[in-house]
Amino acid sequence: MHELSLSRAIGQIVVRAAAGRRVTRVEVDCGALRQVVPETLTRCWGLTVEGTPLAGAALVVNPIPAVVSCAVCRAETQLDWPVLRCGECASTDVTLLSGEEFLVRSIDVET
Ligand SMILES: [Zn+2]
Repeated sequence: MHELSLSRAIGQIVVRAAAGRRVTRVEVDCGALRQVVPETLTRCWGLTVEGTPLAGAALVVNPIPAVVSCAVCRAETQLDWPVLRCGECASTDVTLLSGEEFLVRSIDVET
């Protein structure tokens, strides 16, 4: 499963960043084009961290909308996936501004 391998990847990043400290909360940015279901990701996270030093760390998923910029009318509109098209004038001459991100934004550790 897609979400399971993502949560494992997050776990590896977090363990490295925490350097032995106890992690309480992890925040990730997830672009709409990644087609990740936040609920599934948090459930997979629970399974991934169970019995590891990360157990008990909460995963918070920030959904990032897919936004395109139109070369014709200059509008910035939220993408109506899966059609790469301007929401104002329906032109397909658009540039993707966001929606592809997947990154660990912050990690809270116990002090
Ligand atoms: Zn347009």
